[in-house]
Amino acid sequence: MFNALVVTKDDEGKTSAAVTEISEDQLPEGDVTVAVEYSTVNYKDGLCIGPGGGLVRNYPHVPGIDFAGTVEASSDDRYKPGDKVVLTGWRVGEAHWGGYAQKARVKADWLVPLPEGLDARQAMAVGTAGFTAMLSVMALEDHGIKSGPVLVTGAAGGVGSVATAILAHLGHEVAGVTGRPETADYLKSLGATQIVAREEINETVKRPLEGETWGGCVDAVGGEMLARVLGQMQYGASVAAVGLAGGAGLPATVIPFLLRGVNLLGIDSVMQPYENRLRAWERIAKDLPMDKLEAMVQPATLSDLPGLGRDILKGQVKGRVVVDVNA
Ligand code: NDP
Repeated sequence: MFNALVVTKDDEGKTSAAVTEISEDQLPEGDVTVAVEYSTVNYKDGLCIGPGGGLVRNYPHVPGIDFAGTVEASSDDRYKPGDKVVLTGWRVGEAHWGGYAQKARVKADWLVPLPEGLDARQAMAVGTAGFTAMLSVMALEDHGIKSGPVLVTGAAGGVGSVATAILAHLGHEVAGVTGRPETADYLKSLGATQIVAREEINETVKRPLEGETWGGCVDAVGGEMLARVLGQMQYGASVAAVGLAGGAGLPATVIPFLLRGVNLLGIDSVMQPYENRLRAWERIAKDLPMDKLEAMVQPATLSDLPGLGRDILKGQVKGRVVVDVNA
């Protein structure tokens, strides 16, 4: 028997989450059984733990959209007991039981060997949010980052914190947009050279085109913020659109695309092919300074998860929450 955070749904459709003992024969089918060491709290996890179950597709359910740990058993030649692995995406923690448990069983195709230079805890300090931040930086690089500051929205959150640290490490000037002025010193410690108040973007004159300011953007917020930012991009610059923490609507015009050649790049971390995942994790090990990663980490245990799930949906989590599932 081992511990897991199990989400259940009653006859009236009300969901609740509690740390529960489960057994290995309850785990879903898969080729590889992993002794999970760490998982994390992402925005999607907040939805899955919270009332209504968010994105959960089956009950009872073990959420946790990412994990890192050690292979315990494998029927797939690519993995053997003792191998260190990391998992993000593939609807694990939504449609398939995820990382909020001391064991997980998944398809071998969904795993990536832990890259040289990262241990399981560091890999989960990065987690899905950081992996997505790296995918965003890679997408911006593929389209060319222009001179001038690169904007990161939702900067004090998970995606934003990691994107800020990576971009600064790569030598870019980084401007972090935050609604929490008290995080300014934290963002500067990650390498941001400019702190932009959320209202400064959202409440400026709402013309379709404003000054050409940003050489690139990683946007974790969407909504009004993304719409405003599109009109502030330099000619030919790109925005990597990652999230919707500020809304799913996009009240924008086509003008920035027509008159400034702005590129809007959609970033999806869930269905990334193996080669892309491997490349992104290798870049993370190389281009994300570990001391900065450490500064982002808030430790947690399985029993902290219901509260943290609520916090992340309110935009109140700073950096990355790393869940030690064995604590
Ligand atoms: P976090 O909650 O850690 O960060 C989001 C940040 O956005 C907050 O910290 C806050 O930053 C800002 N924010 C929150 N609410 C608002 C609002 N109403 N208006 C403006 N800004 C707001 O979440 P993550 O970083 O983990 O994820 C960010 C988004 O990216 C989510 O929507 C998530 O679902 C998505 N995502 C998408 C992935 C993909 O594959 N495309 C993968 C991972 C995440 P601050 O306080 O600094 O303003």
